[in-house]
Amino acid sequence: MTDTPPSPLPLPSAEPLSTEALVALDRRHLWHPFTQAQTAPPPLPVASGRGASLFLTDGREIIDLISSWWVTLHGHAEPTIARAIAEQAGRLEQVIFADFTHAPATQLAARLAAVLPEGLDRVFFSDDGSTSVEVALKIAYQYWRNRGQIHRTRFLAFEGGYHGDTFGAMAAGQGSGFYHPFHDLLFPVTLLPFPTTWLGDDQVAAKEAASLDMLDRWLEHHGEDTAALIMEPLVQGAGGMRMCRPSFLQDLVLRLRRAGVLLIFDEVMTGFGRTGELFACQRAGVTPDLICLSKGLTGGFLPLSATVCRDELYQAFLGGGFDRAFAHGHSFTANPLGCAAALASLDLLEAPETAPRIKAIERRHRAWIQSLHDHPSLRRPRVLGTIAAVDLDTEEVGYSAAIVPRLKAFFLDRGLLIRPLGPTIYLLPPLCITDEQLDLAYRTIEEAAEALLTPDVTPE
Ligand SMILES: *Cc1c(COP(=O)(O)O)cnc(C)c1O
Repeated sequence: MTDTPPSPLPLPSAEPLSTEALVALDRRHLWHPFTQAQTAPPPLPVASGRGASLFLTDGREIIDLISSWWVTLHGHAEPTIARAIAEQAGRLEQVIFADFTHAPATQLAARLAAVLPEGLDRVFFSDDGSTSVEVALKIAYQYWRNRGQIHRTRFLAFEGGYHGDTFGAMAAGQGSGFYHPFHDLLFPVTLLPFPTTWLGDDQVAAKEAASLDMLDRWLEHHGEDTAALIMEPLVQGAGGMRMCRPSFLQDLVLRLRRAGVLLIFDEVMTGFGRTGELFACQRAGVTPDLICLSKGLTGGFLPLSATVCRDELYQAFLGGGFDRAFAHGHSFTANPLGCAAALASLDLLEAPETAPRIKAIERRHRAWIQSLHDHPSLRRPRVLGTIAAVDLDTEEVGYSAAIVPRLKAFFLDRGLLIRPLGPTIYLLPPLCITDEQLDLAYRTIEEAAEALLTPDVTPE
């Protein structure tokens, strides 16, 4: 750190900012997420987006193959969602949601109940993925308390699971390894091994048996003390696009039901078509007691989330005074703009051409992923729905792997936004991605593996 005072900077005015001024103001005043600012390259200034493309202030085009952190569903600046937000903003932008209600929230709740598996029909809105997880954990905990089972206080989760960055979400996501500075402040959660699998994995049955075995032993001793298990169904996202088999989830849920433990599915990433079905729980053939939705909920336009549960859980909060009520809420609960965006996004998701497009992306991913079977430097090829992932064959592990900035730069130089999770390279594109854009991404990933992993044999 230097002691020199920051130099004066041009203040923003009505004039459009020059790129240099924009970056200088950013460097002076902004704090970016998940970024070591001392060593990170300057942030890229984005002027606009359209479809799968982002346009930088210098005119450069970048194809967004990760849906801008898994939120952009149909494409950037999708016009029907933009219009729905503008129309709603001209009518009602926001209203307190205690004692009041409005059409966008009620319509959205009813539509979510209609598209989710039967039984999931009571909706609590909040602002982002992390808060949807906080809400689910708190509902599960208080549900047992309200029912007089005050000893049901423990939570189960999975190694490698990620649920967000607020405290409850961090506690549930302890197995992701992201939270070392806060570890002492987190409530205890018991972690089960996640039986991650890929194409051609012959160990998967043994991994699943080990995980279920540990669950059986836990439930034998603590089944009656356990409130809920929380997990990302079928794909652990931030943990490295680690996938498991549907049959594992079915075996898991049988055991939880027998022990009376609630099941929370965090579908903040997997929801809204990413795994091939509208929700991963449908692809897995399992209905949880609570489900967390965000990211793609508004098509990626606005922060909004929903925690949806079985009505029986809601019933346990009725009567007996305020102590039994769910004393939780946010300033922007059920924000009308977010709800209007979500309704427009659901219209697009349910349009007749959308499901076939999702299947077509999965087929194209699968053909490429299968072609990597004997690849010299790409390991563990895997695919589910619109998500394809592969690991670089490197000794380096974890998010701080030195190869990550080199990979990011390699992709950006070729006009692609692909952001590896440690040594895991994945694609999770918006649904408007074209076949040509996908083929370019596949080719570039293979070129990156060759360019960055092949030992440098150039003579001095
Ligand atoms: C991103 C994510 C979250 C956190 O969502 P935020 O909107 O970043 O708070 C929670 N769970 C999963 C599975 C996620 O992928």
